[in-house]
Amino acid sequence: QAAQAATARGWQLYVVGGSVRDLLLAKQEGNKSPAMQDIDLVVDGFDQTADVGAGVELAKTLQPLYPESRLEIHGAFQTAALLWHKHPVLGSLWIDIATARTEFYPYPAANPEVEASSIRQDLYRRDFTINALAVRLTSNHAGEVLDFFGGAIDLKERKIRVLHPNSLIEDPTRIYRAVRFAVRLRFTIEAQTEAYIRYAINSGVYQRSLLAHKKAPALQTRLKTELKYILQAPYWERAIQLLASLGALQCLHPTLQLNQKLWWLLRLVDRWLRRFDRQDNLVHWLLRLEVLLLGLETSDRQSVAYNLQLPNDSLERLSHLETYQTKIESGLSEFEQVSQIVKLLQNYDLPTLILVALRSEHRPTRQTIWKYLTIWKQVKSPLNGNDLKTLGYPPGALYKEILEDLLAATLDGRVSDR
Ligand code: ATP
Repeated sequence: QAAQAATARGWQLYVVGGSVRDLLLAKQEGNKSPAMQDIDLVVDGFDQTADVGAGVELAKTLQPLYPESRLEIHGAFQTAALLWHKHPVLGSLWIDIATARTEFYPYPAANPEVEASSIRQDLYRRDFTINALAVRLTSNHAGEVLDFFGGAIDLKERKIRVLHPNSLIEDPTRIYRAVRFAVRLRFTIEAQTEAYIRYAINSGVYQRSLLAHKKAPALQTRLKTELKYILQAPYWERAIQLLASLGALQCLHPTLQLNQKLWWLLRLVDRWLRRFDRQDNLVHWLLRLEVLLLGLETSDRQSVAYNLQLPNDSLERLSHLETYQTKIESGLSEFEQVSQIVKLLQNYDLPTLILVALRSEHRPTRQTIWKYLTIWKQVKSPLNGNDLKTLGYPPGALYKEILEDLLAATLDGRVSDR
């Protein structure tokens, strides 16, 4: 339907990006049913009468044909998307429809040279050759693969290659994307691209962009998104190791290094994440990122977390972790009763307790926090308010005190079943 609608206006329509890459890769590997993913379409066309870009125009035409989809428009001349939350076959589906870059310059649609240069320019803006492939959906060449930059060969040779030397200076988040694709697809980063990566890092491009929040908030957001993709993926360990070996953790802060201690902490936090998976909405990627930032001095950690616009509770934890740690450790060394320990630890949220446990040099601290989270935190007072009422206590503030005392007595083993 999209191709028909585009053809009716004399426009060209292409599917580009990740879905083309994954489709060709699946074909190459003899996998007949690749996992369905979001689809990126690019429209190459110009409509003098329309006051929006061709992509938006096309999406507006298509939406009524799929009443169960929702139309989203991002900026009048930019992109539109059709979203299905419950697609009958695919579950959820997101189709992005963008306009090829040169569409604002009127040109005769029939001129193949201009037309080819328009989609070529669009693809040239992309990150890697394997992501710069397109399949034409319109005209009698429908199904044709457009490969201006050698993406098909790189797919065969399983290589991540940038399109031009300046690519990583232009957009440093591509370094993280290179690592993500390399690890996820089991590709290697092509030698020249690796040299560009190291050059970009050594050039200090990050001090000027990524580390200076006020100058580049959009870049920071994209870097956070890439970190999130990496740290929530099953392959996060290999990705972090590759980032570290490329020196790319310096993009977060020049002093950040994956030393043995930090690596050990990252591995250890997984044990806690597995155990408390479903509790307190633990956000795995965020906690892994917080652990990674433990490799920094407090003030650096704070500024990186702020630059990345981490959520407030995360900022709070990373800023005050040393204070929390001191309070918890001194409390634990002083208290003997379980109820006292519970009273102390219940002031802190789960991620804070995990970070304190990980950082602690004292094994008993780690063990006590583990016991609190796995056992003591679950202990309930043997009676509740209703029971007290039944026993004839007059309702009031006294209830809270009695119930707290009962809970403490239970935790400390002063309550018997009899
Ligand atoms: P995934 O399977 O992870 O979704 P994808 O290739 O679809 O992979 P997206 O992040 O959704 O990745 O991006 C879609 C397309 O947009 C990419 O294939 C690439 O062509 C282009 N793209 C995304 N981010 C960048 C970037 N930072 N620089 C250049 N092109 C990019």
